[in-house]
Amino acid sequence: MNILSDTMEYICESCGTLLIHSNPVTLDSMKDVHNQLCSVKRQNIVTPVPQVPQKSAPPAVSTTPSQSQTALSPPSAEQASAAPAPGGQTTISLTGSGTNYSKIEGPIDPEFKSKRQIKGMYQGIKVWGPIDPPGQVGIWGTEVTVDFDICIADGACIEACPVNVFEWLDTPGHPASEKKPFMIREKDCIFCMACENVCPPQCVKIFQKGQ
Ligand code: SF4
Ligand code: SF4
Repeated sequence: MNILSDTMEYICESCGTLLIHSNPVTLDSMKDVHNQLCSVKRQNIVTPVPQVPQKSAPPAVSTTPSQSQTALSPPSAEQASAAPAPGGQTTISLTGSGTNYSKIEGPIDPEFKSKRQIKGMYQGIKVWGPIDPPGQVGIWGTEVTVDFDICIADGACIEACPVNVFEWLDTPGHPASEKKPFMIREKDCIFCMACENVCPPQCVKIFQKGQ
């Protein structure tokens, strides 16, 4: 008797297990049991379908500036003027290797504004050339002007000024004196002329506004 001639078989499509039985009812039961226990089938059921990571779309490019871009924007004129450099603009140096100078006698040339050129600024105060630091530093100021190359630093102008326009400024290496009366508060001048009148070498010249 050929036993296998009456058998029926079932092959699990998931795991390939072969089930054989001659009784089709029994084979169906075996199929049900196997399908419930088949590890491959169970894995396919419980394993979530892998999700393909979705790349987030790049932010839209705006052709108009947004508010978040204002930090990269240059400061407005109002913002820039709200934060001036401490002590005012300085574009010249009092140090150098200049040797092209000689001691100059007073008085200051009252016509210097038409003869000299502005060479730069020191803490917001104009400096009129020629300059060749440290031995030649020019005439300083716009309304309260002092020829620093003549000044002997006796301090009479500083003592005479009722509104404290001046403060000492070191000028090491200058042949006439190694400090000068710096008119840092020039805008406070009340044009009393006291400094001009007391200066021994007459190196101070006061210009009323607009002169
Ligand atoms: S003119 Fe009078 S207020 Fe002006 S800097 Fe000279 S002393 Fe001071
Ligand atoms: S009074 Fe004349 S010489 Fe004396 S510190 Fe003043 S500017 Fe210089």
